[in-house]
This record gives sequence, structure tokens and C-alpha cells, in this order.
Amino acid sequence: MTGKSGQRPQNEHGPSNAHRAEVFLSYEAVVDRLEDAAKQLRGASVLHREGLAILRLGTESAPDINDGRPEVWLQGGLHACEWIGPAVVLRLMDELIRSTELRRRAIWYLLPVVDARGYQRTWAGERFLRTTENGENPNLNFPYRWGEAPPLLSRLLGSRLRGWMGSRPASVGCVKSLVSELKSLTNLQLFLDFHGFGRLWLYPWCHSKKPSPHHMEHKAACATAVAAANRVAGRFGYRAQAAAFTEVPMGGSCIDFVYREIGCAHSYAVELPPSLPWGGVIGATLLGALRGDPKRWWREGQAPTAEVGIEAGDEMAAALSALVDHLFGGTPAATEGDERPAEAVSSAFA
Ligand SMILES: [Zn+2]
Repeated sequence: MTGKSGQRPQNEHGPSNAHRAEVFLSYEAVVDRLEDAAKQLRGASVLHREGLAILRLGTESAPDINDGRPEVWLQGGLHACEWIGPAVVLRLMDELIRSTELRRRAIWYLLPVVDARGYQRTWAGERFLRTTENGENPNLNFPYRWGEAPPLLSRLLGSRLRGWMGSRPASVGCVKSLVSELKSLTNLQLFLDFHGFGRLWLYPWCHSKKPSPHHMEHKAACATAVAAANRVAGRFGYRAQAAAFTEVPMGGSCIDFVYREIGCAHSYAVELPPSLPWGGVIGATLLGALRGDPKRWWREGQAPTAEVGIEAGDEMAAALSALVDHLFGGTPAATEGDERPAEAVSSAFA
């Protein structure tokens, strides 16, 4: 569509020719965005907790307490180099600023960057740092089924695998801080952990291929989210599956911890765009090896264009809105401060 005013046409979510610098932000710029949002909205504040900067969107009438609304947690940047996660959390923040109706459905917590130290290093020359600055994988360090891995993998990788898991559960600084914050919540009902990449919507378990006790609820909620995202995404669609089927079952994951230990039934990880390469990971690695660079597909996947980042944000805004309707009912709170009915009332595909 072309604007008549002579200006560059704008869609409702931002400039059509976005620059990389407007989508992927340094850590300082991310925190500035949170502080700006907190200034714009009554009931909002930025919590600085042990290395985490979290935007909390409470209610205007009771900013510091929970009036019975469900709590929703949105996070990215558990893996430092996956820049698309923080970009999408900020896009969802903009959606919440824009949509008073959506904002009033829950108490919101937005943590764009979990591993701030690692993320800062990716901006200081180590662009493709996959671990923390100490070489751990935070997503193997959570205190649920920590240390569990298939025996063959343990034998093959040995001390390397143990190094990724960390020395003990929640030994990684950002994991310890995150666990502490999540335990302080009283009514967490939706948890989304954004990662790059592969266009997958992942539900528990991660540590086992057995179905979880909420398998049917997970499938219904994920189907709703994926359908909404795919209406925006078009031909490059997302699909949902249990996390254990993505690679191999592993203990210590964030979503299993939030599901089992925090008691949040709807705990999901989203692998954002781009899609995995044609021919799969092994095919792309072999083809890359023939060309002298086996991991090129992975680096390209971790460094998408600004346009891909914006599309992912639009897709996740649609998915979040659909999920909130699915889980919390289709009718928003009538006025600020009202208690919401406990039961969800909408159907999944209304
Ligand atoms: Zn990740």
C-alpha cells in the first residue's frame, strides 16, 4: 500500500523499511525502552533484580499488588546470541502499550534479556556467543531434573556436557535471579520464553518424550497460538511439538521448571523465525561442510534481517492475543481494578 501524503507508508506496528538498529538493540537501549514504557503507563515499573531488568505492568488502581488477575511472563535472551527474542519481547511491549484492552487482562512481566552479561558480550564482538560468559547453557541449569541427559549423549560429550549444565542447579547467575523472581509470583498462568530459531512452538516436557499431565491442554493452547501466528506468517508456518522431540530429551530446562516447579500449566518456548533450513539441520551442516563452513546456516539463522524481526513480532502479537483469549476468556475486565472471574469462558477457536 502506498501513502498519499508522500511520506513513507507506515503500518500500525512501525516503519515499513525498518533498520536493523531500530529492531535489534544494545542492552542499554533495551533497558531505556523499558524505562520509557514505565513512564508512559500508570501502574508500570521497572524492577531491577540481581542483574535482571523486568518491566511490570500492574493495574492503575493497585500498581504494586495483584488484584487476582492472572500473571503473564514474557522473556527472551536466555541464550545470548538469539537477538530476535529481545526484539520480539519489545514488540509485545509496544502491543501492550497500544492495546489497553490486552494490557488489562493480566499482570504482565516482560524480561527482554535474561542473560544480560552474555548479551552485552554479543554486542562487544562475540556476536555468536551461545552460552553464558562462563560457558554454561542457562537452559540446562534450571532446578528441575537438572543433570538428566540420554546416556549415549553423556558418554559422547562427557565433561563438555557437564560444563554446559553448570556446576549445580541454578548455579548460573541469571538463572538463580530468574528462579527467585518466578517463585515470588502468586498466580502465573502463562509463560513464554522466546528463542532463535526454527519456527517451533514447544511445550513440556523437555526432559522426557512421555506426555505431560497437561498434554491435551498444551496441544489445544499451542494449536490456538500457532493458528493465529500462521494467519500472519503465511506460507512459512510455525508448528507445535513437545520440546523433547526437537533435539534430545534434556533436564534442567526453563519451561519444565516453570511448568512443574512454579506450577504454571501453560509454559512454552518459541523458536522464532527463520525456519530451519531445507534438508534439516544435518543436511545443512553437511552441505555447509562441503562448502567449507558447516555452521554457516546456524549463524545466518541467528542473525536475521530487521524485516524478519518485525514479522516475528507481528506473528507473536497475534499469537499472544489469541492465547490470552483462549486461556483467560474472551471478555476483558470491564473496569480497572475489577476482579476477574476465575474460569475461562471462550472456546479455543472462537
Ligand atoms: Zn535458545
